[in-house]
Amino acid sequence: MRPLIDSHCHLDAAEFDQDRDAVIARARAAGVTAQVIPAVACAGFDKLRALCAAHEGLHPAWGLHPMFLAEHRPGHLDALRDWLERERPVAVGECGLDFFVEGLDPDQQRLYFLRQLELAREFGLPLILHARRAVDEVIATLRRVGGLRGVVHSFSGSEEQARQLWKLGFLIGLGGPITYERANKLRGLVATMPLEFLLLETDAPDQPLATHRGERNEPSHLSEVLATVATLRREDPQAIARATTHNARNLFGLQ
Ligand code: ZN
Repeated sequence: MRPLIDSHCHLDAAEFDQDRDAVIARARAAGVTAQVIPAVACAGFDKLRALCAAHEGLHPAWGLHPMFLAEHRPGHLDALRDWLERERPVAVGECGLDFFVEGLDPDQQRLYFLRQLELAREFGLPLILHARRAVDEVIATLRRVGGLRGVVHSFSGSEEQARQLWKLGFLIGLGGPITYERANKLRGLVATMPLEFLLLETDAPDQPLATHRGERNEPSHLSEVLATVATLRREDPQAIARATTHNARNLFGLQ
């Protein structure tokens, strides 16, 4: 079995506090040898750093997630800059724009998003982006800032939007949502897109697969995401594992 990398997993989330070691062990048994774990708010940076220091194959990213806007303060951007400079993480993120969830002030989101793009450029780091009902604006902002690279995780846009992202140096991350038969647009995209632009992810504990509806998601389920991609593309799962693991190592600079 070829190694897999979960390119987006919130293993530091409280949902895993009771059985995190078992979750990591199940992931390894399923071939998931590495995970990229993006932070969501300043208050969680210490916990995430300690978690990743204690386990091989866990790689942190530092960022301020738009859904946690109420927790962010302008000073956290300065703190983030210190963390990036001192810790040299694999990426900046999770950051982005979310125009789906109500009550998240768009202009406040834009302020935090733009500053994090500038930090990624300053430190030469890739970005882990969240774009919900905001893909066009994210694309326009990336184009305006320029000189960036990264991944739009849990991509939910059109094929045309995906193409624009690829041209700008961004990959797309896909996971649980492609396992639902009604996800025609996403399944069509993953069936035909160039593999060089694809990362596999779980977004655990969120976004459970169709076979695990209503359950807590976990990184071991990445092997089922891989199986779905292979079925949709009618390709050998090992070839897809090899390509997507290569993509993740390349983007995040992993061994
Ligand atoms: Zn996430």
